Amino acid sequence: MKKVDVAIIGAGPAGLFAANELIGSGLDVLLIDRGVEPSVRKHICFGVGGAGAFSDGKLNLTSKIGGDPASIGQDEAVIQSYIDQVDQTFTAFGAPEKYSGEDQQALSALKREASRHGIEFISGRQRHMGTSHVREIIDRFYHHLLDHGILTSLENRIEHISHKGNGFILSGK
Ligand SMILES: Cc1cc2nc3c(=O)[nH]c(=O)nc-3n(C[C@H](O)[C@H](O)[C@H](O)COP(=O)(O)OP(=O)(O)OC[C@H]3O[C@@H](n4cnc5c(N)ncnc54)[C@H](O)[C@@H]3O)c2cc1C
Repeated sequence: MKKVDVAIIGAGPAGLFAANELIGSGLDVLLIDRGVEPSVRKHICFGVGGAGAFSDGKLNLTSKIGGDPASIGQDEAVIQSYIDQVDQTFTAFGAPEKYSGEDQQALSALKREASRHGIEFISGRQRHMGTSHVREIIDRFYHHLLDHGILTSLENRIEHISHKGNGFILSGK
């Protein structure tokens, strides 16, 4: 395997965004995945785009869904700024401009109905990419990383990580 400054194991959303952050850092960055490119992948969980690549791509754009920011020692506003950044990135690669979850009349009706049954209704803005678009959007994201010098090693399942000197040796098959 190549010698690089940073190896990211997994090209799901976490890996793609980590690689994106490192563009322009001057570091050699290698993005590794056991699966294949978005345009040719068939496996539902493995490959560039990760587990949601065959989903309908609904992004919940609120810190109220997905866990309590305080539980990871973060302020709600900080988490919201990351969510906005993720949203801007997906939109830049072709996610539809339109948001869902903003129909105040429908939301009020659902809130009332939920509260009648003692349920807290949590609403938030959503962006709906749609099943047929998710892999196209991920594919553009992936090519943006390649165009900006991110190195990739696909069909490479990392099975062992060992420490050597100041670095690590990754081995796969
Ligand atoms: C059917 C489905 C529908 C979903 N729909 C939505 C949705 O609409 N909206 C939403 O926000 N979330 C959705 N999710 C959840 C979302 O997909 C996950 O939260 C997200 O994919 C997690 O990203 P991740 O990068 O942490 O992990 P993953 O997406 O799981 O990515 C991990 C990557 O690492 C690779 N990998 C794993 N082990 C190794 C190894 N040893 N060596 C090399 N590579 C490895 C895998 O191939 C994979 O590509 C959905 C998930 C599923 C399964």
